[in-house]
Amino acid sequence: MSAEPPSSARIAPPESLGSSAVELTRKLIRFDTVNPPGNELPLQEFLLEMLESAGFECDLLESEPTRANLVARLPGNEPGKNLAFLAHVDTVKADTSDWQHDPWGGDLIDGVVWGRGAIDMKGQVSCEVSAAIALAEAGWRPPSGDLKLILTCDEETSGTRGAIWLCREHPELVQADYIVNEGGGDYFELDGQRFYGICHSEKGLMRFKVRSRGSAGHASQPAISENALIKLAPLITRFTEQPPPEPSRDGLAFLSAVRGSEVSPDEVAVEVERMRASDQRLVDYLVGPMLGITMSPTMVSASEKANVIPAAAEVFIDCRIPPECGEREARERAEALLGEGDYEIEFVEAVPGNSSEPESPLRDAIAEWIDEVDPGARVAPIATPFFSDSNAFRKAFPDSFVYGFFPRRDQGLFDAAPLMHAADERAMVSDLELAAEFFFDLPQRLMQPD
Ligand SMILES: [Zn+2]
Repeated sequence: MSAEPPSSARIAPPESLGSSAVELTRKLIRFDTVNPPGNELPLQEFLLEMLESAGFECDLLESEPTRANLVARLPGNEPGKNLAFLAHVDTVKADTSDWQHDPWGGDLIDGVVWGRGAIDMKGQVSCEVSAAIALAEAGWRPPSGDLKLILTCDEETSGTRGAIWLCREHPELVQADYIVNEGGGDYFELDGQRFYGICHSEKGLMRFKVRSRGSAGHASQPAISENALIKLAPLITRFTEQPPPEPSRDGLAFLSAVRGSEVSPDEVAVEVERMRASDQRLVDYLVGPMLGITMSPTMVSASEKANVIPAAAEVFIDCRIPPECGEREARERAEALLGEGDYEIEFVEAVPGNSSEPESPLRDAIAEWIDEVDPGARVAPIATPFFSDSNAFRKAFPDSFVYGFFPRRDQGLFDAAPLMHAADERAMVSDLELAAEFFFDLPQRLMQPD
């Protein structure tokens, strides 16, 4: 599908590209953009200056004071399909006392960059920005369509001031036919075969409460009241189990891609067991959450006083559903787990999941590149159990291909994933260098004359 020009037609990355990306990662980590409150403006102004001096047309878009989004554009020679690098610049918090190194120090030690955001996702911001600047400075321009950088604020608390706001208020500015964001690209192995996941889909959120009711009374006379908290306790422990695996669309696509032939719904159990035998983590991290609905109890509330027996008690269930499912499916699975009983279910928050078609010229360009940098490795379509800014972009531009991809050849999926939002978050220099090369290569490979 992708009409590839001879590789001689492509510009080679400058020697300094990798070190620029690494140094930029360290600098961005030193901006405290913990959200809340975010305060992304100073970081965005810093990037704005870099991008403007390299010839990008830039818009700094504040949804609220200090909450800034940055859109930079390298216009093509003629209209065509736009490619966007998407990334968020805010982070979750960090507790310095849990860390071996300062979370905002950006230390570089033995080939590893330490700090909050090294993985999620200032490392990717830096690789995207460094690569785009290197392309612009080398005189490269898209043959058709625009190359865009869309750098958002507020991803970590839902994106209402970032991606969602941008897609609503400035759709023409952020429209792109191909969008590369976070969520995939870490390698994993199955029976010795290396794979890189391309995230084409993200599960949705369907949060609900399970509530039990009793009668209030003085805590000193337990016999004369019906304690709602005690009624709730056995309901909570039912969530030790999970709804059974289901042949979801994304699960089948993933299993088929790794096996190399179409997997039917009847074969799901066998394929999952094959993965479990190879590496239990493939099931726990990857394919397990893709195959159906998950439910985790996260918060409980009951009486607000120590001496009052509660008349009502509730547990909050964080429920994640495949894109094709909704409240009906979530309720059915919850009732199946809880069984008959005296309780209420109330749905309180819903964000439908969504996906892009897994086959596209963007997927092919990524697969070709992987074949060059890691011969023999293959790509596979994956779905993440949580959602990102990609959700807002897929919703706003249903015909676009929005994928998560940031190649990690050395720090694999099971090394990187546990560090997200955790202590001692860190990225390998070798992976940052590789990713910068990817973002330098992709526009040249994908953006062709129309
Ligand atoms: Zn993120």
